[in-house]
Amino acid sequence: MNEASTRNRAPGPLAVPPGGPWALRTRETGDGTRSLVTATCTRCGAVPWDEPLGMTVTFPSIEQARQELPGWGWALSTPRGGAEQLLCPGCAARTVP
Ligand SMILES: [Zn+2]
Repeated sequence: MNEASTRNRAPGPLAVPPGGPWALRTRETGDGTRSLVTATCTRCGAVPWDEPLGMTVTFPSIEQARQELPGWGWALSTPRGGAEQLLCPGCAARTVP
């Protein structure tokens, strides 16, 4: 039996992951490993963009992202029994009745 290729899984596309709008990455720094959480609009795939810094917004934890993103105009909701939904300001504006 040769199962050497069992772990050869291609990375998924840049779509919303099944786990929800959050993507957790780690980055090695001089002080150790830091966690970086990035968020993705579950409808259009947009990511929060920090205009003054010109970079994708990252958070130290998912909990912090949940707290801060509404301040950026992002809408977070969790349907009962469903996966978390995160809408960018554009999608949120189109959703509001
Ligand atoms: Zn969107």
